[in-house]
Amino acid sequence: MSERVFNFNPGPATLPLEILEEAQKEMLNYKGTGMSVMEISHRSKQFEEIIVGAETLLKELMGIPDNYRVLFIGMGATGQFNMIPMNYIVDEKAGNYVITGSFASKAYKEGIKIGESHVAANTKEVNFTRVANPDEIKLSDNPAFLHITSNNTIFGTQWKVYPETGEVPLIADMSSDILSKKIDVSKFALIYAGAQKNLGPAGAVVVVIREDMIEKSNQNLPTMLKYDTYAKNNSLYNTPASFTIYMIKLMLEWVKSEGGLEAIEKRNEYKAGLVYDAIDNSNGFYTGHAEPSSRSLMNVTFRLPNEDLDKEFIAEAAKIGLAGLKGHREVGGIRASIYNAMPVAGCEKLVEFMNDFRNKKA
Ligand SMILES: *Cc1c(COP(=O)(O)O)cnc(C)c1O
Repeated sequence: MSERVFNFNPGPATLPLEILEEAQKEMLNYKGTGMSVMEISHRSKQFEEIIVGAETLLKELMGIPDNYRVLFIGMGATGQFNMIPMNYIVDEKAGNYVITGSFASKAYKEGIKIGESHVAANTKEVNFTRVANPDEIKLSDNPAFLHITSNNTIFGTQWKVYPETGEVPLIADMSSDILSKKIDVSKFALIYAGAQKNLGPAGAVVVVIREDMIEKSNQNLPTMLKYDTYAKNNSLYNTPASFTIYMIKLMLEWVKSEGGLEAIEKRNEYKAGLVYDAIDNSNGFYTGHAEPSSRSLMNVTFRLPNEDLDKEFIAEAAKIGLAGLKGHREVGGIRASIYNAMPVAGCEKLVEFMNDFRNKKA
């Protein structure tokens, strides 16, 4: 490929061309320092502007209330599967988990290692074709938190209405749909997202945490596993993933320049609508994995009449610059990851290809 492709990979995922070009332009000499961002001190005034700028922009775009902090932590979203139970499954409390897919299940398995962990709802019986209904969720006694996965990256399902948990802290893994639509952050005690889907390149997990959750986090933990280490030191206790955080800031500036979350949400609905319509209007040639009421706007999962056709579809698509369409091995078939940075033109080209392929093979 001599040209850039439409990249449907689930993560690391496509980034807007504009921010790659911006990073390229600043690569050798960042704002007159004579160094790249990768080479400047994480204690420099230039980097301070970057990390504070990223936090400020995220707060503005998501409408994060003042009693929340934004932290940049390492170890990916998977590291949060450990930090959350270590910090909150204390004093005979139980972690509560809604299992709606692979990552949700991994989070629960890490909870069990730390303390009492309870499955509050599970959609495995229906092969994770949908998220849980709020009335299916049964909390344990003395719940420490309820953990959900807002978008199930592998199965292609997404919560449309979040559970009401009252005083029980609601925690969400938003790795694959943070910043894709407007949400009411005040419903959540803690939100986290690995950067490499909707926020930038890999290397950091962004944690949006309510102040009381910092205060009540377990103080008897190793330094790097405590939320208040990151909060007290503005995520600079040790060297953070500085280049990743710089890219996140560029990504946030891009989202703002595109019209913020209102415009992004509309565009995401339009993009996903194009692909789901192609599935629904295919006379059964394409079958969606998710139940329509749980369909994800970020990861569209479907299959063809047999596995040979799946393979042929993926190979033919790659030849015309539609990359990364292979479904996860747990689901098979096709997965089109269409995060914020996937242009409308990418979805249009995919749909045109889907229709051509069906006309040839059906
Ligand atoms: C990708 C993903 C993860 C894992 O993220 P890492 O940064 O690789 O640890 C966790 N949860 C969800 C929902 C994801 O999409």
